[in-house]
Amino acid sequence: MTKITRRQALTTAAAAPLAAAMPGISMASAEMKGASMPPKFFRFQLGSFEVTTLLGGTQTRDNAQSIFGTNVTEDEFAEVSRANFIPADKAQFFFTPMLVNTGSELVLFDTGLSPEPLAAALEAAGYGTDMVDKVVITHMHGDHIGGLMSGDDATFANAGHVSGAAENNYWASAENEGYEAKIRPLAERFSFIDPGASVASGITAVEAYGHTPGHMGYMWKATASR
Ligand SMILES: [Zn+2]
Repeated sequence: MTKITRRQALTTAAAAPLAAAMPGISMASAEMKGASMPPKFFRFQLGSFEVTTLLGGTQTRDNAQSIFGTNVTEDEFAEVSRANFIPADKAQFFFTPMLVNTGSELVLFDTGLSPEPLAAALEAAGYGTDMVDKVVITHMHGDHIGGLMSGDDATFANAGHVSGAAENNYWASAENEGYEAKIRPLAERFSFIDPGASVASGITAVEAYGHTPGHMGYMWKATASR
């Protein structure tokens, strides 16, 4: 067995940078490729379901504090932002609808800001808009209902549509532009449900009122495997 002395070890280490600088020994000089775009989808297994999150668009919004920090001073907001390596004056929004394959149905939760990026993300993940069996809307803000209509047509032509009854009742009488453009034309396709209703096998609507008057969450409950 060769014994390496401390002096030999130091000599070897010192020689390494010299070798790297010698002609004929390649230094990495590959082209810069620029920052990558976020992936369009991400898929994972949840019990017997397959879940695909879809990037239905991203947008930079100004005045981050008016959205996320109304309960603190400007100085504190700036300090916390700096400590977390994020800008204090801007916020980057990512709209991420979710597709669940229950094994018997493709169920889409929310639709992002507009149909095009969502359709592109679906396609990247291996699906067409015509394959979606059911569209479930958590609440009727523009970044959730924006992908429902493509021009004058339903984006998800073969899908039944579901949302909360309390949510629909609120927006239906609110004279809201988004509702009139995206939900009203699809009224005949929609069924409006109450908390506790099942939207697909194993998925139950849960009351989550607050963000909007009829906001609904959807809970997946594992069934015992045999
Ligand atoms: Zn919202």
